[in-house]
Amino acid sequence: MIEYQDLIAKNSQYTSLLPSIDSANVFLLESEDTIYLENFALMLAKAILCTGTTRPCGKCQDCLKMSLVSHSDVHIYPKFSKGVVVDDVKDMLDRIYLAPLESDKQVFIFNSFSSATPQAQNKLLKILEEGPSNSYIILCVSAISKVLRTVQSRCYKTKLLPIPSDDLKKVLDISDNSALDRVLSLAGGSLTRAIRYAQDDDFQGIYDAVLSTICDMKDSRQVLAYSCMLGEKSEDLSIIFELFEIFFRYLLLVRLGREDFVEDKSCLERLRSVQQEYSPDAIDLILREIYKAREKLEFNCNKQTIIDSFLLYILEVKYLCRE
Ligand SMILES: [Zn+2]
Repeated sequence: MIEYQDLIAKNSQYTSLLPSIDSANVFLLESEDTIYLENFALMLAKAILCTGTTRPCGKCQDCLKMSLVSHSDVHIYPKFSKGVVVDDVKDMLDRIYLAPLESDKQVFIFNSFSSATPQAQNKLLKILEEGPSNSYIILCVSAISKVLRTVQSRCYKTKLLPIPSDDLKKVLDISDNSALDRVLSLAGGSLTRAIRYAQDDDFQGIYDAVLSTICDMKDSRQVLAYSCMLGEKSEDLSIIFELFEIFFRYLLLVRLGREDFVEDKSCLERLRSVQQEYSPDAIDLILREIYKAREKLEFNCNKQTIIDSFLLYILEVKYLCRE
């Protein structure tokens, strides 16, 4: 098994980004894969601070400290709440004109910057333009659309690509080959998803429960039983909705005769058996509803209500869109 940082060090997107640290000071990294994104930012900071010849050399004092994520010239936000707020930017402004402590540069990393309030983003604007040349700012976002255009235009932008399965395999600790294949095909190149699936002791149980809901739930009187079953399988509804999304995408591919694009072949037979029950229109509506449900989850709405109404919705659109 290799560490996440080693995975990134050999990634071609990372190595091709490195020359830009000589010309840019502000980076905007975009990915929904949070764990990969945050580690990518740390690796970029490592290369910025490295004093070796091929950066990051992995041997100099700065590299060694970065490997332990304990470099005193790297400041990571948000510090005060879950999302980035004005106080985070104020904290950065207090530090940015001070001399670095250990090296000759400073790096400020803003994780989950998609959540930054417009006030915080506006406060950051001026420094993006006129910050000291030995300071670097890395903004990590899940979706660039949540960043003000004025902020975007001052950044060197990079959208992180999915991680190749062969690389992802190296950081997962799964000895069972068929389980490994399933995790890899469902993760879709996301380190965050792969780790989450790999670490869930009952991932197979959740997988079966979601698939069974799609294939076997036929009547609104069954909704309660299915929602209880799903709730028992996982406290974490986001993993359940991720699987719903994956299976409904697969189902759409089956309906459109594009089974070759389905990564996880082991669910194909079951999906084929119910394809006539779901028209492409119904699947499209259900996928939209999944996005809405996931947004509600972020706002901490009542979990039971979210899952109950989603299951009812599936039955409703199946009925309304029947061909
Ligand atoms: Zn180094």
